Amino acid sequence: MQNGSSEAGPTAEQPRGAEDQLGGARDRLRRAVDAVVPADGTPAASAVGVVEFLTSTALRDHGWADRVAVVLDRLDAAADHLAGASFAALSDEQQAEVLDDLGGPDLPGGGGGDEEVRWFLTTVNAAYYADPASGGNHDPAAWAALGWTPQPPEGWPAVEVPPPDRRAVIGREQLQTRYDVVVVGSGAGGGVAAAELTAAGRTVLVVERGDYPDTDYLAADHLRNARTDIGLDHRTLLPSAANPRTLEIGGRTSTVSSWDPRWGSNAYTVGGGTRVYGAQAWRFVPEDFRMASTYGVPEGSALADWPIGYADLEPYYSRAEWEIGVSGSTDGDSALAPRSRPFPMPPLGRTAPARRLAAGAAQLGLSTLAVPLAINSTPYGGRAACARCRQCVGFACPVEAKNGSHNTTLVRAADTGRLSLLLGTRAQRITTDERGRVTGVVLVAEVDGHRWRAEVAAGDVVVSAGAVESARLLLSSTSASEPTGLGNGRDQVGRHLQGHLYGGALGVFDEPVNDYRGPGPSIATNDHRHHNTGEDGTALVGGGMLAEEFVPTPVGTFLYLSQVGLLSRHGLAAKEGMRRLMPRMQRVVGPVQEVTSADSRVRLDPQVTDALGLPVARLSGGLHREDHRTQAYLGERAAEWLRASGAETVVVQGRRGDQLGPSSGQHQAGSCRMGSDPAHSVTDPYGRVWGHDNLRVVDGSLHVTNGGVNPVLTIYANAYRVLDAWLNAGR
Ligand SMILES: Cc1cc2nc3c(=O)[nH]c(=O)nc-3n(C[C@H](O)[C@H](O)[C@H](O)COP(=O)(O)OP(=O)(O)OC[C@H]3O[C@@H](n4cnc5c(N)ncnc54)[C@H](O)[C@@H]3O)c2cc1C
Ligand code: SF4
Repeated sequence: MQNGSSEAGPTAEQPRGAEDQLGGARDRLRRAVDAVVPADGTPAASAVGVVEFLTSTALRDHGWADRVAVVLDRLDAAADHLAGASFAALSDEQQAEVLDDLGGPDLPGGGGGDEEVRWFLTTVNAAYYADPASGGNHDPAAWAALGWTPQPPEGWPAVEVPPPDRRAVIGREQLQTRYDVVVVGSGAGGGVAAAELTAAGRTVLVVERGDYPDTDYLAADHLRNARTDIGLDHRTLLPSAANPRTLEIGGRTSTVSSWDPRWGSNAYTVGGGTRVYGAQAWRFVPEDFRMASTYGVPEGSALADWPIGYADLEPYYSRAEWEIGVSGSTDGDSALAPRSRPFPMPPLGRTAPARRLAAGAAQLGLSTLAVPLAINSTPYGGRAACARCRQCVGFACPVEAKNGSHNTTLVRAADTGRLSLLLGTRAQRITTDERGRVTGVVLVAEVDGHRWRAEVAAGDVVVSAGAVESARLLLSSTSASEPTGLGNGRDQVGRHLQGHLYGGALGVFDEPVNDYRGPGPSIATNDHRHHNTGEDGTALVGGGMLAEEFVPTPVGTFLYLSQVGLLSRHGLAAKEGMRRLMPRMQRVVGPVQEVTSADSRVRLDPQVTDALGLPVARLSGGLHREDHRTQAYLGERAAEWLRASGAETVVVQGRRGDQLGPSSGQHQAGSCRMGSDPAHSVTDPYGRVWGHDNLRVVDGSLHVTNGGVNPVLTIYANAYRVLDAWLNAGR
């Protein structure tokens, strides 16, 4: 056994106190936040704890006190210019004038103003509409004024909820010298590998860099979850200070924090993304596996066919639907491909907005179907049915009705007694012997401020760390025979990074339409997945599904409405706008099948290292012009659908800016694509890294293309296929 060793690690700089940094400006801050969210029949911002939020969380997490101090100075300077007084001394009307001026116009097409002041307006509103239990505000009055609570309409059901299954979790001192297999990452692909390998009698160590938090911890915070980007570390994220990435655009490289959308995050916890995902569980259709044959290879792209077809994956789609638990129906599926089994559960019932969308679709002649979800519509897998609560995507499920690796595959693996789950630990690199054969994994962690390292031997290694980190791991695993990384002799590892650009539109109806029945997506159309014609009359490459969006939180609603210019960011108009628009708003969105390019890639940064001194992932490249065309097309179709359903105001989602770099994020895929030709792929069709029979990839990295739907069911299914080929056919 290789034992863990310790060496001193970096220490975090201690933050200064709030009053030091704000210079006793609490009263100025109170006046400013109350100008942003004033009292009407409901409390002002300061009355529900927004000042405390800005002066505590800001300091603890991100040094926001400096930004707040800058904003207060700018407000005073503008007030002085306007009326020769401080901002606090201005009348309500004068304060509104200053905020209008610095906060930028509130109508669509607005811009200008002061970026820091706009940040402040957004942050104050976010704190006001966030949850009382998790530091956003301390009084639920803001939610009460909106008539919003996280609970399901009928209250939480009296069901037995299994606690997180930590039977397989081991301490570092329990680490063995050798396992039959080491699996890196416990997400969608890693969970399937653990279940199948342990069922086949192998001893398996799953190394997971995240922790295994309680459900309560992941089921509350509206400001620090994977669906709310206001600049705070998500509860499922790697701490930003210790885990930067870099982004190279147009020859310039910048360092990006993990809360920044450009970082490209999924969730880093037991279950990976599946612990908090929205659980849409779509199958790809036959064309998704033959994109190059169907559409040709657009210039500037590396579009390719998968080395397998839909028929090869179909039995494993069925297996995944039954093993993980998917509710759905084929009724109305205009892209229906042959299937060997029905869904194990019927779909969840339709929401109120879905009933309107059904009527709108009928008017347009669109076929609609229920959204397939890895969510129990009936008790399944020993767990309860969905309670239809109001916060699903981005949160763990309080009744464990949402099915992910943590409550399905990893539980089955633990049942065998052959699974060991090591948390808070990273695979730093994969080791090889002098002949190049994979021999094990070097593990690293920071424990109580000290660096811990260990080396574990393994007969086989399975990589399932998500597309960005899987590529980073292979690239970090250099040896004399492969100096640029394992399986990277042809410079393929990390290329073809892709995710999903989204097309869609936001509609506002004249009357309340929303019943906030979670998870939200209960109606979709598959009519636009393939063979579409763009606005200019030429053929598009692929397309995408369009669906009713997840129920947003109050903060999410504020962000959506203010970003499209339908809601002011300050004053009574903003408050009234939230109350009026929240029940009337509905979004329709869908993922664009991206046209992959070899230049969108993950590399190791030659200069920037993380807190453990390891080179971070450098992302570079961008989207293909065809992706923007498809995004515009889907946006128009979504708008058309909302209008036909009765929405009076409809805003099409804008074009994603090129400065955001390549798409990756929650739907990241493609960085270790499989293929039949080693010159253009990283693994063979069975997930084996070329040249290494005992090294497999089983996560979204294998995807050649990522479909016009959410990818996770394909990740689960493909992992079952890879494991079946390995364990039952010796491939
Ligand atoms: C909020 C949210 C909503 C989503 N909604 C949907 C949806 O509705 N439908 C859908 O299809 N998909 C959805 N997704 C995406 C889905 O979760 C991912 O596609 C899926 O989880 C990817 O599976 P994976 O096996 O590739 O990797 P992951 O599930 O990302 O698992 C990788 C794991 O590896 C760990 N890891 C990384 N590096 C290392 C290392 N060096 N050592 C050890 N461990 C490491 C990570 O911590 C992580 O747990 C959503 C994701 C999020 C976060
Ligand atoms: S599955 Fe989602 S909507 Fe249903 S109870 Fe769980 S978290 Fe709420």
